[in-house]
Amino acid sequence: MLRRVLKAKGFDVNFVQNFTDVDDKIIDKAARLRISSEELAKIYIDEYYRDFDQLNVLRGDVMPRATENIQEMIAMIEGLMKKGYAYVVRSGVYLDVTKVKDYGKLSRIKVEELKRGARVEPDPYKRNQLDFALWKFYDSPPHWDSPWGKGRPGWHIECSAMIHRYLQEPIDIHGGGEDLLFPHHENEIAQSESLFEKPLARVWMHVGMVKLEGIKMSKSLGNIISVRDFIDRYGPNLLRYFVLSTHYRKQLEYNEQMLEKAAENWRLVELAAAVVKNYPSIGSEEDNKQAEKSLVSFDQHISSDMNTALALSDMVRVSKLVNSAFTRGEFGDGKETALSSTFSIIFSTLGFKKAELVEKEVAQLIREREELRKKGRFSEADEIRKRLNGMKIVVIDHKKGTLWYKSEVLG
Ligand SMILES: [Zn+2]
Repeated sequence: MLRRVLKAKGFDVNFVQNFTDVDDKIIDKAARLRISSEELAKIYIDEYYRDFDQLNVLRGDVMPRATENIQEMIAMIEGLMKKGYAYVVRSGVYLDVTKVKDYGKLSRIKVEELKRGARVEPDPYKRNQLDFALWKFYDSPPHWDSPWGKGRPGWHIECSAMIHRYLQEPIDIHGGGEDLLFPHHENEIAQSESLFEKPLARVWMHVGMVKLEGIKMSKSLGNIISVRDFIDRYGPNLLRYFVLSTHYRKQLEYNEQMLEKAAENWRLVELAAAVVKNYPSIGSEEDNKQAEKSLVSFDQHISSDMNTALALSDMVRVSKLVNSAFTRGEFGDGKETALSSTFSIIFSTLGFKKAELVEKEVAQLIREREELRKKGRFSEADEIRKRLNGMKIVVIDHKKGTLWYKSEVLG
């Protein structure tokens, strides 16, 4: 969403999104499935692309994988060793957090408090409890050669190394889930800033977690609804609408009532999308004036730390204008109006996508239905409408013809 907003405002965005394609979980699962961790990572990366492309989420300009950047990580660890921030013990290479000035500045947690409460990697060889692994020794593959011995990189160093290679410090914005604030992002800062003596990022943006009935949705708890299941049931646009209806920093509460409310609004939006697509010349002079005001308000909302919830209400307001002009019959097939162009700008800036092209079969049924209606065979025509509804096709007759489109929320 942020990329779409920045692009809409004319910024040239270079977005790097990385994949952790080697870690203990991947290695364990690959062993159980009797495939390599590389093959398993590829399966998940492909599935990720499949789901997120469907959601109309833009791909990164660069999408590097950790295993493609092992040499960069080793070079960083060597640098940290040279500067005295890192040390080698029997289990691996560690970063000594007591050497890092301002450790804990991002999460604003006191190091003393951290020691008591935090999830830290247990390791009897570490000097301090909060020190974290830059490199861990492993005898079995997957492992890589390093100046200290065969092993695998620590998780935190992956991101620092890829940022250094693909972007250079300081980057403008570093994003991530709020659950990564500590220790992951804190440790990225500790490594990169100690070595390069520059800020890692100018701005950090953290996204709230999704909660199901008050509990964080997570794979390990098993209380998840997968993107794929959601899309199969409701379609990708409704998921986008639902997610955007809560500010990105807040926790997103998933429950049926919230979903029903999103669906109610989405019904208005998808009708407006179909109307604008088929009849770009829609709306009265007053509608166009209102639309222009809504565009200004949309810009203000989306510019205010991405207040997507209010931006959605602008989209719904414009949709209502479109739909009531449609009901009044105030449309033609001439040029775009301010109303239809405003709708299109908001719709696409928020990343919604027009309904997929409906198959030939549907077009054929629509024609048959029209023929039957012309001949006065209304009950047969109505049977076809029911069949179309069963296929999630909405059919609306109006004085200039018939509007039909595929709905994501029907039924
Ligand atoms: Zn990271």
